[in-house]
Amino acid sequence: MVRVAEYSPYRTEIGGVPVAEIAREFGTPTYVYDESKIRERIAELRAFDVIRFAQKACSNLAILRLMHREGVLVDAVSAGEVRRALAAGYSAEGDPPPIVYCADIFDREALGLVVEGGFHVNCGSMDMIDQYGAVAPGREITLRINPGFGHGHSRKTNTGGDHSKHGIWHDQLVEALVQAEDLGLSVTGLHMHIGSGSDFEHLAQVCAAMERAAKTAGRIIRSISAGGGLPIPYRSGEAYVDLAAYFKLWDATRRKLEETFGHKVRLEIEPGRYLVAESGYLIAEIRAVKKQADNLFYLVDAGFNCLARPILYGAFHPMSICPLDGRVNRPLDEVIVGGPLCESGDIFTQSEGGFVEKRLLPAATVGEYLVIECAGAYGFAMASNYNSHLLPAEVLVRDGKAQLIRRRQTFEELIAAETALESKSAALG
Ligand SMILES: *Cc1c(COP(=O)(O)O)cnc(C)c1O
Repeated sequence: MVRVAEYSPYRTEIGGVPVAEIAREFGTPTYVYDESKIRERIAELRAFDVIRFAQKACSNLAILRLMHREGVLVDAVSAGEVRRALAAGYSAEGDPPPIVYCADIFDREALGLVVEGGFHVNCGSMDMIDQYGAVAPGREITLRINPGFGHGHSRKTNTGGDHSKHGIWHDQLVEALVQAEDLGLSVTGLHMHIGSGSDFEHLAQVCAAMERAAKTAGRIIRSISAGGGLPIPYRSGEAYVDLAAYFKLWDATRRKLEETFGHKVRLEIEPGRYLVAESGYLIAEIRAVKKQADNLFYLVDAGFNCLARPILYGAFHPMSICPLDGRVNRPLDEVIVGGPLCESGDIFTQSEGGFVEKRLLPAATVGEYLVIECAGAYGFAMASNYNSHLLPAEVLVRDGKAQLIRRRQTFEELIAAETALESKSAALG
């Protein structure tokens, strides 16, 4: 049965807690995560041997701790993310490795950290193999392979093909294996993160490429990773991905390899967005309702400093109004929703290429709340201090209770690392 998403233009509660109550208690703009949705998504993926959360999507410690408690392992793309995983309770070593450092380069800090801490490394470039082998011979590694084709909803999110910087080019696999062996590294697994989502024809190609690559590497392979890229429906009427079909394709690939190798092959999946996107809501307050010629604008106190996906990719997010009078039968208007930043691109209702679009939303007034939905992935994680706005607060709703998991940044924190040099003339005077 195909499950289809349905988003309402009104939202009065999140996980049983009134939106207005959260806004009054924690202020706006604030990110709210509904824990029950994350648990649901985890449960749906239990068929895979390992669910590995790509924490770059949403790396708050409370979210990582929740993943840890649920038996979800974690992916780290920087030294900072490795440290976050440790702070959330993950240990360095284990089989399967609890934390995998997965990137296309080591910066010097990350290389030092993974060598010293014994973290598992998934290499996305020949240089990573060289640099790791030079200082950590004897270790096991996995390889991220770029199969030569990709998929993604924009050029900026495409993770395969010859325009993608990611992974070891498929033609170089043998070279990479020889290199690793020469340096005393053993390659125990392969990884492809292509973002094939719900395009099953494409996914079948990815699986076939994985099978070829694994057979090239041979019996040393004990794990394969399907990477991330599971989509979620951002619009009403869009279907949820058919997880059973998705698993079936990967499982068949794994079984073929098990048969060929004569030993078990672990099947990992590495979602970011899928686990957290729908759990997250950005609550903003409407601060101006403006009419410019034929255009009606709702200007809110959150901009691309809080949620960058619309300006970066023209990403679509469902939006809703929290009506303070409780009326959910207001007339709908075509609205452009923008933020506070001094930048004309600070518009949440835009399509790829920066084209401003209108959205049917309930009539609303200054002081009411606008909720940007499906904002749990790549939302807070990409927030910035542009225009010296403070990073928003983050709140987790668990068992009908809203708890602060990151307090709003303060102005003192914003400028804490800066030094105002005395001017020369002042020093002389
Ligand atoms: C970003 C990333 C993911 C997660 O991608 P989603 O589209 O959020 O599922 C998984 N693996 C790697 C290596 C990534 O870089």
